Amino acid sequence: MRAGREPSEVSMLAVTKTISAHTVKEAAEAGLRMFGENRVQEAREKMPLLQSMLPDMNMQWHLIGNLQKNKAKYAVQLFDLIHTVDSMELADILDKEAQKAAKIQDVLVQVKLSEEESKHGAEEADAPGLAMHINGLKNLRLRGLMTIPPFFDNPEEARPYFRKLRLIKDKIEGQGLSLSELSMGMSHDFETAIEEGATIIRIGTAIFGQRR
Ligand SMILES: *Cc1c(COP(=O)(O)O)cnc(C)c1O
Repeated sequence: MRAGREPSEVSMLAVTKTISAHTVKEAAEAGLRMFGENRVQEAREKMPLLQSMLPDMNMQWHLIGNLQKNKAKYAVQLFDLIHTVDSMELADILDKEAQKAAKIQDVLVQVKLSEEESKHGAEEADAPGLAMHINGLKNLRLRGLMTIPPFFDNPEEARPYFRKLRLIKDKIEGQGLSLSELSMGMSHDFETAIEEGATIIRIGTAIFGQRR
């Protein structure tokens, strides 16, 4: 591989927001296993359909969109990995819900690396503290970090953001935690993200075409 990385080090998450259950079924039959949704409500409607159409398929579901606290309970019921934990308060709520569900919930800390108002995520300076906090919660397991850089026509301009996320991971690991995942890179910039250490790339358009 050009990036000098083994293909097995990078997983592709198929982003299925707005994509019909029927099309997701075809993707699963074609061999995809990891699916990402950005809204809890949409996942609550789609996942049971897939479960009934493909009862024996071992599908993994990830939440990649902002999580409202009042949806935490459903998020814990539905998702194998939640990419978007960005506050201690949300972490505490998820920990309680996971305890009730007798589940160890895998999570990522979403880090906000740009000044865009619309982006969610913990501030860079707060990320290590949040990671330590989650590490102290019994029912959450911190697996790594996630970020969404601003959109650039030229993916090269996203590189500093990907590199920054990896440096934050190194810093947190320097404090004794072990983080295996870096969720970064989308259809237009995943190659750059892989070069900078992505372990999960989140791909929608490049698999399913333009969303309506
Ligand atoms: C929609 C979305 C993606 C996929 O974007 P594409 O450009 O269609 O690949 C990835 N990550 C997040 C958080 C998204 O909301």
